[in-house]
Amino acid sequence: MISEKMKVLVKNGSAIRAMFEEGKIMAAKYGKDNIYDFSLGNPSIVPPACVREAIVDLAENEPEMELHGYPNNAGFEDVRQAVADYTNKSFGTHLDASNIIMTVGAAGGINVTLKAIINPGDEVMVIAPYFGEYDNYISNFDGVKVMVNADLERFSINFEDFESKVSPKTRCVIINTPNNPTGAVYTEDDIKKLADILNRKQSEYGTSIYLFSDEPYREIAFGKVDIPYIVNYYKNTVVGYSYSKSLSLPGERIGYLVVPSELDDFREVLDAMVVANRILGFVNAPTLMQKVVKKVIGSTSDLSVYEQNKDILYKALTDIGYECVEPKGTFYMFPKALIPDDKEFCKKAKEFRLIIVPGSNFACPGYFRIAYCVDKKTVENSIQSFKDLYEFYKK
Ligand code: PLP
Repeated sequence: MISEKMKVLVKNGSAIRAMFEEGKIMAAKYGKDNIYDFSLGNPSIVPPACVREAIVDLAENEPEMELHGYPNNAGFEDVRQAVADYTNKSFGTHLDASNIIMTVGAAGGINVTLKAIINPGDEVMVIAPYFGEYDNYISNFDGVKVMVNADLERFSINFEDFESKVSPKTRCVIINTPNNPTGAVYTEDDIKKLADILNRKQSEYGTSIYLFSDEPYREIAFGKVDIPYIVNYYKNTVVGYSYSKSLSLPGERIGYLVVPSELDDFREVLDAMVVANRILGFVNAPTLMQKVVKKVIGSTSDLSVYEQNKDILYKALTDIGYECVEPKGTFYMFPKALIPDDKEFCKKAKEFRLIIVPGSNFACPGYFRIAYCVDKKTVENSIQSFKDLYEFYKK
């Protein structure tokens, strides 16, 4: 017998994971090269060589029980200091080891944060379109999701709708820039507007509203686009970072939280997060990977491949006639579906051997997501299928 809550979650499943599994079946049937699987945000490029070198070096030279034993629940002090130093150098912050908690990826960091700050019934705001797993993370702690309607012009924040929905019960706002699923990057002006609204609402209600900035795609930014460091604009910010995408290590489950000292009730919140990390069953972030992070800090995989894929795909799709806001980062694109029913559209796309994800999965029906973290050849070869799909609907 499973819990009532899990019954619902199992029934809903993960549509994206299901599509990924279906993609594998289709690949077995038609041949891998004949299926254009754009379903999952799994990095397509290998980690940089320094990751392998660090792993080998640590395995050969680090005392084994230092490498494999339990560290502090927050993570190794020297690793956290290295992360703080790197963040200070990059963004002009004033952090030290006590402001960093090593986590089991971004997902671990979000759950730790919500566990620490949410009472049942507290409201957590998300900005459509958004990473669908947020719904599950919020429900883990009996929070109430409040969704801000999409800004379909730029996929930034619909500020009017946002402001009208901030309430005395708002405890946390989750933002994600560069954004999954749209590839949008919030500008400095956007962040200032957001901070201004939150500051005004905090004063009005006499509450603390924490802003959680979910940043697994921070380094995947195109051209010279500037990605403001949110901590520098709003003092109640917690940053969740992950190496899943920048170092192509999603299976290794390593990331961290930045918890600035200026945060309201800093000490209390920090201590609660460390306890949350332990009692949610993470206990601590993987030790080997923590030590790898210290050795390779500042390195990334060759992320330029994603921009090349974006350029090819964006040009081809808009030339064909698809409507799309040009992504400024990540490895996702979010064009408008050719019919209002995005689920039906993605079902039809499969007949053209395209595996794409309905916008409904990101609370934005009428659109679809392409995860172009695939090799360049797959992108190039898929274009005829996108053309055929377009012609099917427009003929
Ligand atoms: N947040 C967003 C916006 C994501 O796209 C993902 C993964 O795709 C995550 C969080 C989870 O990342 P991690 O693998 O670091 O837990």
